[in-house]
Amino acid sequence: MPELPEVEALCRSLDEAVSAAPIEHAGPAHLATLKTAEPPLQALEGRRLAGAGRRGKRLLFPTSDGELVLVVHLMSAGRLRMLAAHKRGPTAPAFQLAFAGGARLILTEPGKRKRAGVWLLTPELVEKELAHIGPDALGLEPATLARLCKEERRRLHGFLRDQRVLAGIGRAWANEILHAARLSPFALAGELDTDALGRLAEAIASELGRGIDLRERGLSDEDVYRVHGKLGRPCHVCHTPIERIAFEEHTIYYCPLCQTGGRKLADRRLSRLLR
Ligand SMILES: [Zn+2]
Repeated sequence: MPELPEVEALCRSLDEAVSAAPIEHAGPAHLATLKTAEPPLQALEGRRLAGAGRRGKRLLFPTSDGELVLVVHLMSAGRLRMLAAHKRGPTAPAFQLAFAGGARLILTEPGKRKRAGVWLLTPELVEKELAHIGPDALGLEPATLARLCKEERRRLHGFLRDQRVLAGIGRAWANEILHAARLSPFALAGELDTDALGRLAEAIASELGRGIDLRERGLSDEDVYRVHGKLGRPCHVCHTPIERIAFEEHTIYYCPLCQTGGRKLADRRLSRLLR
């Protein structure tokens, strides 16, 4: 699933292109993809987008007149891209905007299950819809992180992934961030001392920054991630093989020497069954 660095890099690449010309035709949209009926998509026609923005993992495209906002959530498999005029595109995109001059913004999603979503909302409704989302992880102040962690009873990996707490981090970047912070994914957020909190704040900033930079340069998962999905590969800091453990439907990757004091974490699902 694209997370903050991937969506931010995408935003930056689309910002100029989507605002270059007014929208000539909005749609078609797959029935399961378009989540709103009012205002109708056609309300976009004749208007110009102001650019591309982001809130957590969602892309926001406000119209330049300030009246409407197109919101896109790619979920795990959605792909959004600009297609130049006269370029052949997919026959049945999940969603499409055609601009004057012929360029198109195209959302595709392979497979039968349509999980990516498109919403056309007023700015007031966007605020209301996204009110439950926590502060953006990019540019997070260390003091804000300390406040969020205080009295938090969850383990770090789950805590960082909760969009209501902090917007933008998913399982891949939680793995990368916790490794950079030299913290156990199972450490309790509420029990971090000042030093650990400082390392976590620093790792969130540096890892998201690194991710955005590499994604803007077009690098793939293999070259972007250093811990996520790297089972058995040497840790880039200490060369210990990266370990993997199942936790809350997710797979966590970590370095036992850098993060858990040399200990391998017990697979909680398995140990619960064997108990
Ligand atoms: Zn290591």
